[in-house]
Amino acid sequence: MIIILKDDPNPKQLDNLIQWLKSMGLQIHESRGENTMILGLVGDTTTIDIDLINALDIVADVKRIQEPYKNANRKFHPEDTIVSVGGVKLGGGHFQIIAGPCSVEYSEQIKAIACSVKESGAGILRGGAFKPRTSPYAFQGMREEGIKLLLEAKKVSGLPIVTEIMDLSHLHLFEQVDMIQVGARNMQNFELLKELGRLDRPVLLKRGLSNTLQELLMSAEYIMAGGNRQVVLCERGIRTFETTTRNTLDLSAVPLLKSMSHLPVVVDPSHGTGLSKLVKPMAMAAVAAGADGVMIEVHNDPAHALCDGQQSLTMEAFHELADGIRGILPFACRWKQGD
Ligand code: PEP
Ligand code: MN
Repeated sequence: MIIILKDDPNPKQLDNLIQWLKSMGLQIHESRGENTMILGLVGDTTTIDIDLINALDIVADVKRIQEPYKNANRKFHPEDTIVSVGGVKLGGGHFQIIAGPCSVEYSEQIKAIACSVKESGAGILRGGAFKPRTSPYAFQGMREEGIKLLLEAKKVSGLPIVTEIMDLSHLHLFEQVDMIQVGARNMQNFELLKELGRLDRPVLLKRGLSNTLQELLMSAEYIMAGGNRQVVLCERGIRTFETTTRNTLDLSAVPLLKSMSHLPVVVDPSHGTGLSKLVKPMAMAAVAAGADGVMIEVHNDPAHALCDGQQSLTMEAFHELADGIRGILPFACRWKQGD
């Protein structure tokens, strides 16, 4: 349930209302926008008398929310959330390109890619250190050393970094990582999500291979319920019967997520298609659909990449893509009240 207050509510009456709601065992989330203040009630609201609350002087409206995600819900927090990734803003009109290799491989590789993608217009550097691979015999990532190399590349390029965590026991290695990625395979690792919810650090949450948008938002809710509100959602394709592409990139997720939630939405056309030739058209489509950012795999030598070379762009192709994005960004769809 949400309670929309009238402008400038009397502080004493507001405090009385909040204390009364709390005494009924409810958690209250206050959301102060430019013009409106909203109270979000989390807990069992079934016995609450809506008419009674509606009749209060300071109350403009009361609505029951059916969706089980409260913190992530747009209804409860109408303004876009802007997430700061090491000082780089993402969401609420701040568009970002996240770019870098699937995996960190060696020092010169990650540094060269970092500097090149920055020059082309990327705002955040990606690179896997811990890699979730289908085969236990495939390259598993450089692990701790990979994070060190990413931090060096951050220093050289000035770009903040995002990298994936696979297990809670590695959390101490992520202290200097600007944004922690939860990969598709871990989207419903609830213990991991709860722990990340206790941090004061942005989390890039990727949609699971066979998860619905509501499930994605419930996973965001796990992080936010712990107090960490800096969540970025990522559409990266889902499993369907189609085999031509690695996954089926669900671009309708962009406007849908934007209307369901205030959190920034990023699209990953690299994993979403699995084919480098599809990355540019689908990235452009994601931008047009209103995404707050795209995440693109870029490699210095895709043919010899240790992971995902077939879907990685060369640095030159990435440069062209970034140019294309800048060209269409002013014409992109933007979420607006009522959508
Ligand atoms: C990745 O971004 O490196 C990755 C493994 O992506 P996903 O979890 O979407 O498969
Ligand atoms: Mn990859």
